[in-house]
Amino acid sequence: MARIVMKFGGTSVADMDRIRNVARHVKREVDAGHEVAVVVSAMSGKTNELVAWTRDASPMHDAREYDAVVASGEQVTSGLLALALQNIGINARSWQGWQIPIKTDNAHGAARILEIDGSELIRRFGEGQVAVVAGFQGLGPDNRIATLGRGGSDTSAVAIAAAIKADRCDIYTDVDGVYTTDPRIEPKAKRLKKIAFEEMLEMASLGAKVLQVRSVELAMVFKVRTFVRSSFEDPDAPGMGDFLNPPGTLICDEEEILEQEVVTGIAYAKDEAQISLRRLADRPGVSAAIFGPLAEAHINVDMIVQNISEDGSKTDMTFTVPSGDVDKALKVLNDQKDKVGFDVIQNESGLVKVSVIGIGMRSHAGVAASAFKALAEKGINIKAITTSEIKISILIDGAYAELAVRTLHSVYGLDKS
Ligand code: ADP
Ligand code: ASP
Ligand code: MG
Repeated sequence: MARIVMKFGGTSVADMDRIRNVARHVKREVDAGHEVAVVVSAMSGKTNELVAWTRDASPMHDAREYDAVVASGEQVTSGLLALALQNIGINARSWQGWQIPIKTDNAHGAARILEIDGSELIRRFGEGQVAVVAGFQGLGPDNRIATLGRGGSDTSAVAIAAAIKADRCDIYTDVDGVYTTDPRIEPKAKRLKKIAFEEMLEMASLGAKVLQVRSVELAMVFKVRTFVRSSFEDPDAPGMGDFLNPPGTLICDEEEILEQEVVTGIAYAKDEAQISLRRLADRPGVSAAIFGPLAEAHINVDMIVQNISEDGSKTDMTFTVPSGDVDKALKVLNDQKDKVGFDVIQNESGLVKVSVIGIGMRSHAGVAASAFKALAEKGINIKAITTSEIKISILIDGAYAELAVRTLHSVYGLDKS
């Protein structure tokens, strides 16, 4: 007997037939004698609809009321799945975040889980009950529903797995694992059998939305064995209940991966924007005067490039922010104009950041150079570059996103099995 968490994303619970299919996956594990907690997302498209309603009601909406609205999608699917399970003879009960409780911080709309009391769930496992938990939500210190940011049900699942000391966390989604790049962009992408926590963390934070970044962080810290697999396989096909047997990807320690490739995957993030401050004073304190106020306004600054100044007194500073934050950033910067002393601000939206990721890069030179050469051969202009020991990120015009992903995917031989 094992204790397992099974998480099902939006497409996996998109309608009643799919919810019944999920119930069969759960029944298979229960029949095998396991203790099961299920975490569900809202039906696909539902959260977008709810978000749009809050914007319609009030563009500068109160984040607490936003949370009250958007958390409702998961309330519906958790109840429906509990009913579908009961209907096939499984003792199941739904749980909202506040009932467990899953305690979070006060950052409504992007809250972090602080603590989960798993004792009642564990007590009920002893009575043979399956827990169906609404993902994406918890209870803030103000006693109000708090949501965990888009894609947050992955994080709910891994956090619950850690809290109840589950043997593993299975993430069921609409692809049968983590691929070398988004299979919707590059059909030649290959499924990875295993991927190291650190690489998955980079893939997720650089745009691969198959797992929320925070869920990977938690899996790494709490050593949760996390397996990404498809909910669309026949739940009762032979071997479906055997761990690591069905097609899927295990997120694991780097030591568990015997043959480490130099490059593991390519990720991309759309809707990036670049802001340039021209001819600003080249003296101590200027960067602090720019990026301090942007951070206080909760604007996530990413790639930063500062030119060397020609005459030692003036320089240019260029950085990226999410497209949706450009107007806010421009306002913050213009408010700082006296302190920063720039001549003009320029900005460009609709850019995309394409990243090459792999732990093997630590010990290989020339990985970046091959990327630059390949993009040049396709006539793709590079606007900014950042690197770390296990990734290279390149900013380009959004129109070239797919071409760049496919080009890099092929340059590193990722489309060959
Ligand atoms: P869910 O609703 O189950 O949480 P998501 O839509 O959040 O599913 O995540 C799954 C999607 O992630 C896939 O349909 C795929 O298009 C996308 N994706 C992006 N990068 C990758 C990748 N490297 N491997 C697998 N899927 C990826
Ligand atoms: N329903 C939420 C979203 O669409 C959470 C999730 O699906 O993980 O972002
Ligand atoms: Mg998701």
